Amino acid sequence: MVVIIKSSLGTVSTLDKSKTVAIDFDGVIHSYSRGFQGLENAYDGVHPGAREGIAALNKAGYKLVIVSSRPAYVIRDWLKKYALDSYFEDVANIKRPASFYIDDRAIEFKKGRKNSWKLALDKILK
Ligand SMILES: [Mg+2]
Repeated sequence: MVVIIKSSLGTVSTLDKSKTVAIDFDGVIHSYSRGFQGLENAYDGVHPGAREGIAALNKAGYKLVIVSSRPAYVIRDWLKKYALDSYFEDVANIKRPASFYIDDRAIEFKKGRKNSWKLALDKILK
C-alpha cells in the first residue's frame, strides 16, 4: 500500500525511498562530544569522516536527508556554517523513507533473523 504524507516537507510517498540515505545529526555529522547541551546548542564541529562520507554518498548518487529530533533551523544553520548544506535535500524530524539509516543510537535489526529481538534486547538491557 502506498501512503501519501502531506506535511510541511511537501508530499512524500512512503515507497519513495530509492537511493536515499537518512542520516542522524548528533553524534554522526555533528561531533556531539559533550552530549546534549540544549536543543538550540549544536556546539561541536564536524564528526571525523562525516564530510568525506557525505561527499562519497552524494557522488554515488544518493539523495541525503537528515532525520533528527533537534529543530531543523538549528541544523540548517549548522550545515551552512560548515558548508555542508548543499548536500542535503531535507532536514526532518519525522522518519523519512530511505534505503538506509545511519544513526549512532541504532541497533541493527535484521528482518527474518530468528534472534533479532533477542540481540536488540541484549544491547538495550545489558
Ligand atoms: Mg545521534
